[in-house]
Amino acid sequence: MKLRCLDCAHTFPPTLRYACAACGGILEVVGESGLEPPPGLPAGMWRHAARLGVTDPAAIVSLGEGETPLLRAPRIERALPDFEGEIWLKDETRNPSGSFKDRAISAGISKAIELGARGVVCASSGNAGASVAAYAARAGMGAIIIVPAHTPDGKVTQIAAHGAVLLKVPGHYSRSYDLAAALAERHGYANLTTTFINPWAVDGLKLVGPEIRAQLGGRVPDMVLIPTGSGPLVEGVARGFAGAARPPRLVAVQAEGCAPIVRAFEEGAEAVTAWGMPDTIASGISDPLIGYERDGTRTLRLVRRSGGTAVAVSDDALRAAMRLLARGEGLYAEPTGASPIAALPRLLAEGLVPRGAVVVCLITGHGFKDGRAYQEMPARIHAVPAPDDLAAVARLCDAALAEKE
Ligand SMILES: *Cc1c(COP(=O)(O)O)cnc(C)c1O
Ligand SMILES: [Zn+2]
Repeated sequence: MKLRCLDCAHTFPPTLRYACAACGGILEVVGESGLEPPPGLPAGMWRHAARLGVTDPAAIVSLGEGETPLLRAPRIERALPDFEGEIWLKDETRNPSGSFKDRAISAGISKAIELGARGVVCASSGNAGASVAAYAARAGMGAIIIVPAHTPDGKVTQIAAHGAVLLKVPGHYSRSYDLAAALAERHGYANLTTTFINPWAVDGLKLVGPEIRAQLGGRVPDMVLIPTGSGPLVEGVARGFAGAARPPRLVAVQAEGCAPIVRAFEEGAEAVTAWGMPDTIASGISDPLIGYERDGTRTLRLVRRSGGTAVAVSDDALRAAMRLLARGEGLYAEPTGASPIAALPRLLAEGLVPRGAVVVCLITGHGFKDGRAYQEMPARIHAVPAPDDLAAVARLCDAALAEKE
């Protein structure tokens, strides 16, 4: 096992290293541990420990991440008039801290412990921080989490609950990113920021693909729709299907209020440039990439290489998608988690979804983390001042049930 630079192919021994010493490029993990899955771990992705990067079983920190359900979405299929095919939801809200970030953090913190780290630092738009806080608590190690000041309450509460030191920084996410790198160096902590900075964490995302394939009975989907910030999850999905005869087309979904990768894709640009101040309800993908634009460029290349596309969705489309997921399919997602559903009508309208396509949508984050948008939607909530008057309450229910949605 080693680390290799994506740009100049320099290789380095498997250590905690966040960029190529020769050219500053992004590093990736090459090789696998071959580790026998250690007994006593909770069910989940470490069943495939052999494919991950940890060689010391005692270093593994797991809360049972990965191996999430794949659910068919019949009501969403019916809600899309021109759609013929299969829509599947990969329910990543079911990870221990409520987002797919747990896959990356479990892999990243375990390798950091194996390599002697005493603590961990993470800059986050919320979910990675919540994950790091939970896994650091599990490991009994110190954690410093840095988030933008406007991070949703649910995520802030979650991070604080696990006892992490939580720093709130004004402005966009990229400012938190710089501070995390500096603090990691100062304290000698591992940096688990989930951009492309930590190759061991990114490596942990590659099992999503094989899981989906197994859950589809060995079929490879035609398209995978991925909520995209800087893009490690896109990389994970791409790697997970590498070697398939016909790998899926990857669709990077961003919010109109923060869409640096979509903009570059639509302009036919070679490189991604940073966004200004994000303005969207999708906090999980509010990443303007300032200072690490190269991460976006990496993702742009992966999307193009797959024959896929990049689409931006409006906040209104996100709200409609959240509602459809919650009312139609029983899934409670944060705005970012619903973004693939919001992208479907656009992709259909542009003729990008072939007849009979098997489409997988990654539902990346839980509604518990950010329920504000739901609170503003029409709902069938009624005050019942006199619960003893059964006849009146029953009439109220009849009327409410009969209401047209
Ligand atoms: C972080 C996050 C993303 C974006 O993932 P990247 O790998 O950074 O592109 C998508 N959805 C949710 C819910 C997230 O927390
Ligand atoms: Zn290099």
